[in-house]
Amino acid sequence: MIKAEDLVLSPVAALHPYEPGKPIEELEHEDGAGDVIKLASNENPLGPSPMAIAAVRAALAEVNRYPDGGCWALTRKIAARHQVGMERIFAASGSVEVLNLLAFLFLRPGLNAVFSEHGFAIYALATAAAGGEGRAIPMKPGYNFDLDAIAGAIDGSTRLVFLDNPNNPTGTIFRKAEWERFLAKVPEQVVIVADEAYFEFVRDRDYPDSLNYQDPDRLIVTLRTFSKIFGLAGLRVGYAVARPDIITLLHKVRQPFNVTSLAQIAAIAGLDDAPHVRQTLENNAAGLAYLEHEFKRLGIDFVPSHANFILAEVGDGLKVFNGLLKLGVIVRPMGGYGLPGHLRISVGLEHENRRLVSALKQVLAKTPLRAATNRGAITD
Ligand code: PMP
Repeated sequence: MIKAEDLVLSPVAALHPYEPGKPIEELEHEDGAGDVIKLASNENPLGPSPMAIAAVRAALAEVNRYPDGGCWALTRKIAARHQVGMERIFAASGSVEVLNLLAFLFLRPGLNAVFSEHGFAIYALATAAAGGEGRAIPMKPGYNFDLDAIAGAIDGSTRLVFLDNPNNPTGTIFRKAEWERFLAKVPEQVVIVADEAYFEFVRDRDYPDSLNYQDPDRLIVTLRTFSKIFGLAGLRVGYAVARPDIITLLHKVRQPFNVTSLAQIAAIAGLDDAPHVRQTLENNAAGLAYLEHEFKRLGIDFVPSHANFILAEVGDGLKVFNGLLKLGVIVRPMGGYGLPGHLRISVGLEHENRRLVSALKQVLAKTPLRAATNRGAITD
């Protein structure tokens, strides 16, 4: 019998599917226990924007209709927000859809994409799925991107560079000077993907907003999402801002109705929900400060974060992850990101953060940190 995998490119057959955070329902089902908390997928712990919920409720009776395939109203709203023309906006089923479409458009066997090691897992997956070669460049100390080395790895066959800023899972950022030095080195045939899924959480004044660097001579694609600050991860909606020639190509290869009607409506309403955004930022800042304080007390190394999650070094990541699971706390083990000693922990509500810390204390009492990891904060 013919195996289906023999009919596809061998790097595609060799792929491991993206591993999402363990769903709450799955753990409740396995354990038969309720009261599970999930701090595993960098979601908004406050829930969706209430304005988005109201808009979705009102629109439910219309789901017999196809969505607006061109996302006209949402595109108009986003274009106005960024003060750019609508021809520079592409709405998508989550920003991951754009990552996949870019790989599909610009890569094929013989071409490559460059990204950082310990970067967002989808870059390697999307690259391999398109038959391209993925070049993962080692980080600098402190879990920072090495933008000079990334620029140095670009050659005549490079078509894409994927940079998430802040980076998932380290929470680190690169700053204006490094970015500008990087841009000066990148040849014109390279599409630079600035994946800014956590943009709204950043407080650092030296953070480069990639939208300010878009110009007609550069192929920069800025990605933003409604999954994080706006709390709409389950509806799947994100967008790209880029030169119109890139946007036109994305429209050529997308599904005809890539963004659902409810997602479009929720995103439009969510954009206006300033109180929800403010509360989310306040909760995140307080939660991060609390977690960092507690990790220091427990002697757990962590990477200071600019996002809504924190990377902590716990010794045996999988063991601690499983220990936390038994106590009903879902976090994310990082073996798949090449960081088997780490956990990525999303900032939750105050009571969730407290529960995580108390569960972590219990688990670490049985699975001690290695002495070498016992150094307090790792500098950014
Ligand atoms: N980029 C980064 C860096 C992310 O961490 C995530 C979500 N985990 C995404 C993109 C994807 O977000 P979306 O839900 O918009 O597809």
